[in-house]
Amino acid sequence: TVMALPPPLPAAGADGSPVLLNFNECPLGPSPAAQEAARAILPRGGRYQFGLRGELAAEFARQQGLPVDHVAVYAGSSEPLDRAALAFTGPDRSLVLPDPTFEAVADTAAAHGARVHRVPLLADGSHDVRAMAAAATDAGLLYACNPNNPTGSVTARGQLEWLLANRPAGSVLLVDEAYIEYSGERSMLDHVRAGADLVVLRTFSKIYGMAGMRLGLALGRPDLLAKLAAFGSNPLPVTALAAGLASLRDPGLVPERRQANALIREQAIAWLQARGYPCLPSQANCFMVDVGSDGKAFSAAMADRGVLIGRAWPVWPTRVRVTVGTAGEMARFREVFAQLAPARSA
Ligand code: PLP
Repeated sequence: TVMALPPPLPAAGADGSPVLLNFNECPLGPSPAAQEAARAILPRGGRYQFGLRGELAAEFARQQGLPVDHVAVYAGSSEPLDRAALAFTGPDRSLVLPDPTFEAVADTAAAHGARVHRVPLLADGSHDVRAMAAAATDAGLLYACNPNNPTGSVTARGQLEWLLANRPAGSVLLVDEAYIEYSGERSMLDHVRAGADLVVLRTFSKIYGMAGMRLGLALGRPDLLAKLAAFGSNPLPVTALAAGLASLRDPGLVPERRQANALIREQAIAWLQARGYPCLPSQANCFMVDVGSDGKAFSAAMADRGVLIGRAWPVWPTRVRVTVGTAGEMARFREVFAQLAPARSA
């Protein structure tokens, strides 16, 4: 007899289980085709299936007009992000990154003995590329995140191109495009194609809804990718490869999810702003709201009421990050937010 599978997880918030708006995940999970592909490959999970990695790289390369040797597949984008910190920073090569941003690369660089230079975002939420270029003459790595986590704010491509052209000699630019599919922004991949000192990261954790399955990409010149590869072997889960391939081959998936996310995000932001709580414009699946009091305490109070939201960043102690959930989850978010934060004149 076949062992019974556990029952499916209840929809968050439906039965008293917490609403999860805290990790910038996609509430929709893997697409139906991706789930089917993962199920279909499971019986062959006893094999490494190295060929599947090449198939996924070839599919992405074909879609983006990249040579396949400019594509490296990892189990998520955290892995190549850490490897970039190890490869391009050290005691005499510092890291420059915006603030606030996704800080994983800073933690790894610091642990690797590198100095870390945090450059505040401009008031519109974009990267201050001039200050970033001037932050450290010994910079080994400049990290840009577009759209940025935690703000969802975007930096115009021209600004990132300026940074690429004007960065300190010998440094590499890393552009983390984890959220780019949610935005209308143009990728920096064409500069990878042109052979720049640039690595672009993509992930299947966000719009593709595969955070728990683990799949990501590093895109760059083969010599740059080789420096990341040098830090150890990189085995991949076949379920993620199969699901990732199915996702890439579904042309409707990204535009559909982008549109649904934007609609729900803009509704939430409009509601908050009308109640007197300012938000930075976002083009991702998260945004920051200024609650006008200690953000950490506010997040904790929301959590007590069953709605888990993101945290505050030290530079902006009164703003908290909120991940865009389903329409139902965001209705619950508004209910609990209203209990804690009264409407006030904007
Ligand atoms: N980069 C950014 C900007 C992120 O926000 C995240 C996750 O939140 C990651 C990278 C890492 O995600 P993963 O390792 O799941 O691809």
